[in-house]
Amino acid sequence: MWFLSHRGRMMPIMEDLPSSPPTLETLSPSRASDFKVCPQLFKFKAIDRLEAPPTVYQARGTTAHLALQRLFDLPAEERTPERLYDLFREAWMELKPTEFPDLFDSIDDERAWGAESLALLANYFSVEDPTAIEPLDRELDMLETVGDMKIRGILDRIDDTDGGLVIIDYKTGKAPPERYALSAFFALKIYALLIRIRTGRTPDALRLVYLNGPTVYEIPVTDAQLDAMERQLGALWGAIERAMRDGTFPPRPGPLCDWCSFKDLCPAFAASADAPTAPSSGSATPVPAQAGSSASA
Ligand code: SF4
Repeated sequence: MWFLSHRGRMMPIMEDLPSSPPTLETLSPSRASDFKVCPQLFKFKAIDRLEAPPTVYQARGTTAHLALQRLFDLPAEERTPERLYDLFREAWMELKPTEFPDLFDSIDDERAWGAESLALLANYFSVEDPTAIEPLDRELDMLETVGDMKIRGILDRIDDTDGGLVIIDYKTGKAPPERYALSAFFALKIYALLIRIRTGRTPDALRLVYLNGPTVYEIPVTDAQLDAMERQLGALWGAIERAMRDGTFPPRPGPLCDWCSFKDLCPAFAASADAPTAPSSGSATPVPAQAGSSASA
């Protein structure tokens, strides 16, 4: 069900919910990251299960991921830019009718988006040579128990190289400046922990491939880092459980709010809907959780 927000956008709303406390069946690296950034954002996505209206950026990311995944189905010598562009076009024709049916106002807008997307994909060949890579796995569905938690997520690619196991994540958005890049590895460190639990083998490196730029960031992995991540996840899980029990998911306004799909619904901005600037983090108002939902986050 959808409603018209005070900013004139269609936003989804929840059906009436029963009054039992919310529970989480699984936690994904993305939702764990959301909670770290902003508990209210986590609530919107994992507890209320609101879906953000699709964007051209999301459509590009989903389609590019599918094309890159399928590139490695081809024999090595056929992994050329032209074949990747074809795979992108095919993936878009598959995804468009069901996931992005009304994304573009005109065929010209869609064509311009397609041309930008292919230019982005062309960058891929300047950072990797897919003819020289045989991934160990792609789009790997990970579900592992970590302490009291079940962590679930889809890993883009894992390679077994001469230098060891490398976990790769494709990004179609812009790379952060290098001094902020470390925090972008949060989700990949969780995947590395899941790989260690599943296989008993510690990955050797994590690689973020930003097609926009392009930029590649890579860091080594150690058991000590993964032990620390396991402790961090345990603490995060405890904080999430407390938030669900108390029904308190404070919004944490910051620079990311301008890109937040749920800003129109956010209590931190509702009181100042007509004001041009965001309130400071100190003025954010905690909001009770919707009760009674069970979700995979
Ligand atoms: S608008 Fe900002 S404070 Fe509100 S949910 Fe989104 S990220 Fe959090």
